Amino acid sequence: MADINTYNYLLSDIKNLKGIGIKTSNLLKKKKINTIFDLLWKLPKSMTDRSVSVKIQNLKIGEIQTVTLIPYKYNFPRIRNLPNRVNCRDETGELDCVFFNSYEGYIKKILPLDTEITVSGKIGQFKNKYQITNPKYISENSALVKTKHNQYSLTEGISEKVYNNIIKRALKNLPDLEEWHDSNILKFFNNISWKEAIIKLHSPENIGKYKANFYKRLAYDEILASFLVHSEIRRKIKKIKKQKKFFYNQDQDKLINKLKFKLTNDQKNALNEINNDLKSNNKMFRLLQGDVGSGKTIVSLAAAHNVIKSGFQVAVMAPTEILARQHYKLAKQIFDKNINIEILSSKTEYKDKKLIITNLNEKKINIIFGTHAIFQKKIEFKKLGLIIIDEQHKFGVNQRKKLSDKGGDNCDILLMSATPIPRTLTMTIYGDMDLSIIKEKPKSRLEVKTYTKLESKTDDIINFIKNEIKIGNQIFWVCPLIEESKKLDHSSAVKKYEYLKKIFPNKVALLHGKTDIDEKEIILNKFLENKFKILVSTTIIEVGIDFPNANVIIIENANKFGLSQLHQLRGRVGRGIKQSTCILMFKSSLSENAKKRLNILKNSTDGFKISEDDMKLRGYGDILGFKQSGIKIFKLADPVHNSKLFDLAEREIKKMENKNEDISRYKLLMKLYDQADIINDIV
Ligand code: ADP
Ligand code: MG
Repeated sequence: MADINTYNYLLSDIKNLKGIGIKTSNLLKKKKINTIFDLLWKLPKSMTDRSVSVKIQNLKIGEIQTVTLIPYKYNFPRIRNLPNRVNCRDETGELDCVFFNSYEGYIKKILPLDTEITVSGKIGQFKNKYQITNPKYISENSALVKTKHNQYSLTEGISEKVYNNIIKRALKNLPDLEEWHDSNILKFFNNISWKEAIIKLHSPENIGKYKANFYKRLAYDEILASFLVHSEIRRKIKKIKKQKKFFYNQDQDKLINKLKFKLTNDQKNALNEINNDLKSNNKMFRLLQGDVGSGKTIVSLAAAHNVIKSGFQVAVMAPTEILARQHYKLAKQIFDKNINIEILSSKTEYKDKKLIITNLNEKKINIIFGTHAIFQKKIEFKKLGLIIIDEQHKFGVNQRKKLSDKGGDNCDILLMSATPIPRTLTMTIYGDMDLSIIKEKPKSRLEVKTYTKLESKTDDIINFIKNEIKIGNQIFWVCPLIEESKKLDHSSAVKKYEYLKKIFPNKVALLHGKTDIDEKEIILNKFLENKFKILVSTTIIEVGIDFPNANVIIIENANKFGLSQLHQLRGRVGRGIKQSTCILMFKSSLSENAKKRLNILKNSTDGFKISEDDMKLRGYGDILGFKQSGIKIFKLADPVHNSKLFDLAEREIKKMENKNEDISRYKLLMKLYDQADIINDIV
């Protein structure tokens, strides 16, 4: 019961806090401070320390300082615009208190002559003499002046004093929460309670103490809350009992043997993990994560083949039709001839579509490829046993849960993502799924060579391209990213296209954000079939499509991209057996920092390492695609600096899962920190 009250209080509307009227509460809401709980996470940016007084001879101009002095003479000039001055001194020097627009009576009252007064304010200088202008902190009682005050980045209309008071009141009324951590974890943070930690968080002397126990405890709370939610979803899914899939290893071996290459060890391991899930009677909910070109497709198709052999149907969804088609073609090549393979696209004729729907329903089709169109309402599978989703790193936790519900209890789920991200982020984003990782790249592959070039050296690049085309290669030319304007983005690509077309007549095509979907497919297909040599595009080049013949990528204005994004773009080439090249173009010479970043890219082709380094340089919010990926934005926790806390939370969650521990004591924690709808389903 206490829990509910605390919860209700902390998550109640900000206007319930005494002293906050409608006006203030509206101002706060503009800053997304809706509840009392929200208020707690708006941290002081800096502190004004007036607590130490200094002698006049030691004052520093420009700083806010406190002095104790004795006023000895008033100067109240009768001339307009000239301020009133009070000459003051201590045993080391002189200082004037200067007043614009203040009455003499008031000044005499606050600065009586020959009395010890403490004043605090910004130290200025006028005609070689120290002065404080319009001092607000001024009193005979030095304790009233010698304070420490927090400065918050303030909402317009709320003054520092008012805001400090609001926070003070919120902290004063803070409830004691029942501790959710066990004693071992608490010890780790020196037994500091949630409430104590919050109070310390707002205490002026603690600004920026990210390594202190109070800070770490609160960051850990937040991480654990997020992991607990994921873990609950996992447990829910794991509880679902399904029919085991039954298939023979020989069938799989036969399929693999048809390939021109051997699977890498990582591919084998991933496939084993997936197969074990398929064979168990727990529903699979797994993410296959691997760098671009690491060979995820074949792993997923082998798994699909096994599922079909065990008598179930499979649905494979790709983000674009061209990618769906590429997977479909591969399946046609390697699957047993008696397996019925179909593709459903926006171009499928109405009567064919009707037939596909009927055949899926009667299980005459074993596997269907397509875009999200394959999950239309009217499509019903007779015996769906596996859903494979390719390149869906933008699915948030809610969408994933829905997907898992969709296939029914007997349907396993495999997601694939080519966005290598740091481990701490993987835990944060995909904690609800089991994880298979492919780190190793196929051995036959040559590493892409990465160069940097100034834009003024475009001629060199043109010569280089001429040569590449001569020996039969194809080129991607990626145009500048102009965030401010989609229009400019588009026009710069058009310009480059016109320019290149003159040099390479009939060999260049253009793709940009405004190209319509059908047109885009046609162009990409032509490029795949080597009908032209250079593809000029904005950054929309499809993820996942295999262009084995393209081995050069030129990226203009490369400093506009994050490293992970450059790595993704670079991953468009280097998939075939030929040596590939990536040229990063710059408008002007690089800063030291930019050089440092590019060296990371030049020296590594490991997407996981690059994203890790990128995150260290730029913070986690900026890494490719995260803004759209449904990632929780933490209030305090930071995957770069708190990686140990992430590890700790992960260990704790594993322990709880293994012991099948009751997590009801964390209910309040989860509800406070994760107010997503999904919580209501699970706690
Ligand atoms: P991604 O993991 O980015 O989806 P793909 O599955 O598209 O990568 O594979 C990229 C290319 O590598 C394909 O042309 C595929 O045939 C090839 N490939 C996959 N596995 C291997 C391997 N073990 N050895 C050599 N080439 C491989
Ligand atoms: Mg792929």
